[in-house]
Amino acid sequence: MAGPTATDKGAHTQLSGRGGGPVADTSGGMASGVTQADLSGVPFTDLIAEMIQRLGDDPGRDGLFRTPERVERTLRFLTQGYGFTGQDAVGDALYSETHDNMVLVKDIEMYSLCEHHLLPFFGKVHMAYIPDGYIMGLSKTARLVEVYARRFQIQERLTDQIAQALWETIEPRGVAVVVEAYHLCMMMRGVEKQNSKTITSAMRGVFLEDQRTRDEFLRLATSSREVL
Ligand SMILES: [Zn+2]
Repeated sequence: MAGPTATDKGAHTQLSGRGGGPVADTSGGMASGVTQADLSGVPFTDLIAEMIQRLGDDPGRDGLFRTPERVERTLRFLTQGYGFTGQDAVGDALYSETHDNMVLVKDIEMYSLCEHHLLPFFGKVHMAYIPDGYIMGLSKTARLVEVYARRFQIQERLTDQIAQALWETIEPRGVAVVVEAYHLCMMMRGVEKQNSKTITSAMRGVFLEDQRTRDEFLRLATSSREVL
C-alpha cells in the first residue's frame, strides 16, 4: 500500500505546488531560467477565457460565453483521480475465497488524458489475477481503472499503477494488466496512422515467472473482441 499512496501524494503535492509558484522577480533578482508568473489568485475560468483569446477567438461571444465554466467543471471531473488511491477504490470489497484459478476481467472502458498534450486517450483495460486467499468484488475493477485514468497520464504508467494497486490490495499470486488505447494526440495531429493502437502490459508474480500462465492470459485477453 505504501507504494501507490506515496505516488498519489507526490503527484498531488506537485500539482497544488504549481499554483503557489515563485512570485515575480524583485529588483536586482537574476533571471534564472524560467520563472513562472504567480497566477494562483486568478480564477480558473479567467485562465480558460485567456487561452481562448490567445488562440484567436472571442471568449465573450455567445457560443463561448459559458465555455470557461464548462471546461473547468469538465477538467475537474476528468482529473478527480488525484484525490483517491487504489485502496480507496477497492475498499473492503475483498472476499475470502479458496478459488485459485485465474480471474480475468476484460474490456473495462477507460478514458484518460495524455499528460504531454492534455488530449484524450481511450480504450480498454483487461486485468487478471490469481488469488491467494482473497478475491475482489468485480464491480470495483472499473472504479480502480478510474482512479488512475482520471489524471494527466501516460499509458505505460496507467498500466503499471493498476497492476501495482491490484498487487498490493488483493495480495494475489500474480497480476497481469493489458491496456489497449487510441491516442487523440496522435490521431488528430496525424502523427501516426489513424487506426494505430498502443498496447501496454504490466505483470507481477506468477505472470512474470511462468510463461504458460502469461500466455494463457494474453490469449484470453486478446481473443475475439470487437473493434472499438
Ligand atoms: Zn499526447
